[in-house]
Amino acid sequence: MATAGWLLAVVNQKGGVGKTTTAVNLAAELAAQGDEVLLVDADPQANATSGLGFSPTDLAHNLFEVLQDECSIEEAIIPSGRVHLHLIPASIDLAGIDLLFATRIARETVLRTLLTPLCEQYQWIIIDTPPSLGVLTINALVAANGLIVPLQCEYYALEGLSRLMQTIDLVRQHLNPSLEIWKVLLTMYDSRTKLGEQVEAEVRKFFGAKVTRTVIPRNVRVGEAPSFGQPVVEYDPRSRGAVAYKAFAQEVKEYGASRSR
Ligand code: ADP
Ligand code: MG
Repeated sequence: MATAGWLLAVVNQKGGVGKTTTAVNLAAELAAQGDEVLLVDADPQANATSGLGFSPTDLAHNLFEVLQDECSIEEAIIPSGRVHLHLIPASIDLAGIDLLFATRIARETVLRTLLTPLCEQYQWIIIDTPPSLGVLTINALVAANGLIVPLQCEYYALEGLSRLMQTIDLVRQHLNPSLEIWKVLLTMYDSRTKLGEQVEAEVRKFFGAKVTRTVIPRNVRVGEAPSFGQPVVEYDPRSRGAVAYKAFAQEVKEYGASRSR
């Protein structure tokens, strides 16, 4: 009997910490290994959409239309051009969703209602979220079984995290009792400075075993890949960044297997 897939959200309300890079590469790597994967771009900036090589304005349907009941979720799913990997693209219109949802009944559970049935079809649904704790991120927290929290290895890595943790607690109490942080991932690690080591030690002290063994190095190839519309695991699979993202995907897979429902 096939078991339902996992729904993971990549969250951190800070911008530029590696959410999109992590979502895109995790999705691409899990798909490359043969799992059916759906990447959901829930950020108005649509970086995950362009990161897979799509121009958000060229697409017939997108998540905004789904949320506004203008098309079905099935209509918004597009093949990514890679085996086993599908995408629900974002568009800039998503920036208006907080306002549009202000008076909507049960607005926090819209994404969960839409995505949960798809867990029968996909082993992994991965949601990339915007750098805010607005209605899109809340929807992702409500929909998710597990969270991936990327932290950039910089001095202020843990700043603002208490708000994220409070929000996660509130969602857990009221709407999604089984919500859990699966993995905390250190990104953009610079081994040439002492700061990276210090931040890593601090984050490991705070999150313990939730922090992956894998740390993502700062790597030029990771930064270049999106301009070619490719995840780095595809653009330059042998680069240090790609090797690290593959190891990270392995840890996520193992974690999923360890807590099979
Ligand atoms: P977020 O989605 O949290 O805003 P991104 O994934 O878009 O963050 O990353 C921010 C910027 O940093 C992007 O330009 C991305 O290409 C770059 N970047 C992310 N991870 C790395 C890395 N490991 N090495 C170098 N550049 C990176
Ligand atoms: Mg992003």
